[in-house]
Amino acid sequence: ADRFISPAASPAEEALDRAIRPKTLADYQGQPQVREQMEIFIEAARKRGEALDHTLIFGPPGLGKTTLANIIANEMGGQIKTTSGPVLEKAGDVAALLTSLEPGDVLFIDEIHRLSASVEEILYPAMEDYQLDIMIGEGPAARSIKIELPPFTLVGATTRAGLLTSPLRDRFGIVQRLEFYSVEDLSHIVQRSAELSGSRIAPEGAVEVAKRSRGTPRIANRLLRRARDYAEVKGNGEIDRLIADRALNMLSVDERGFDHMDRRLLLAMIEKFGGGPVGVDSLAAAISEERDTIEDVLEPYLIQQGYMMRTPRGRVVTDQAYLHFGLVVPGRD
Ligand code: ADP
Repeated sequence: ADRFISPAASPAEEALDRAIRPKTLADYQGQPQVREQMEIFIEAARKRGEALDHTLIFGPPGLGKTTLANIIANEMGGQIKTTSGPVLEKAGDVAALLTSLEPGDVLFIDEIHRLSASVEEILYPAMEDYQLDIMIGEGPAARSIKIELPPFTLVGATTRAGLLTSPLRDRFGIVQRLEFYSVEDLSHIVQRSAELSGSRIAPEGAVEVAKRSRGTPRIANRLLRRARDYAEVKGNGEIDRLIADRALNMLSVDERGFDHMDRRLLLAMIEKFGGGPVGVDSLAAAISEERDTIEDVLEPYLIQQGYMMRTPRGRVVTDQAYLHFGLVVPGRD
């Protein structure tokens, strides 16, 4: 089933995404610590006329990793080349990208935890000394050549920092962890996106969308679009609180912002595993979901909101989860 977290679904949505994506740090809402640090690091690098240190950004999908990578390039006055771990299969793929960079450019590698070992090895000297060591030819004629690279910034993005090998992680001078957004920050994002896309939204409508967006800007922007559709067909075009509420109910996004997959996960833990502890693999099998989806997408928000916990023996639901479904908390009736 389609989830509001998946990347843009159509070319029209992609165009809209581009229009509302912030291009400067000043427009990047929320994440105050990240913003404050990046402002300083970027200004310092610019003053010295150097490339910004390599930067690792981690956090669940939709929180603004790609956006931040683009902002870094923009603020540093460079171009950005974008790729991803699974796409860079061979050492030659990454060598081609690296040799195409100009001084001050950003190479953005999404899902950087999925790089092959041979690609990772090419990156080490490139990151450390702006140098490319490649082997050309095969057998007795093979030799290694060194190519100087311009000073550049590697920006890597990943869902969890723990997924990276430590030699790779150690080569990032800047590490930023993105947090889920507050309702206040998200409602600013919703209002800004509404303005840029020509939708009319009341402040209470923006708060309602924000409350139900799982702390995630990508979801907030998606829900805004659907609420706009609803307002245009069922209302007078303005998204007020009631219209937002009805649109989100229609999409089965509940008052806590949980969708059917969140509910399925929590209910499976309660109904099939007595509330836990249950291992993530058993849970994945029970709801026919990938283990990675549970760990990267579903549970971070449910844990942050206090509906489940990770323990050394497995995942457990909290009392709040029972109460959410109107169930009696075991041992307390
Ligand atoms: P990620 O790369 O972490 O999956 P993206 O950078 O693609 O997430 O962000 C998803 C969408 O959310 C973007 O299109 C952007 O419009 C919006 N967004 C993300 N972070 C912010 C932010 N800090 N302020 C405003 N909008 C944001």
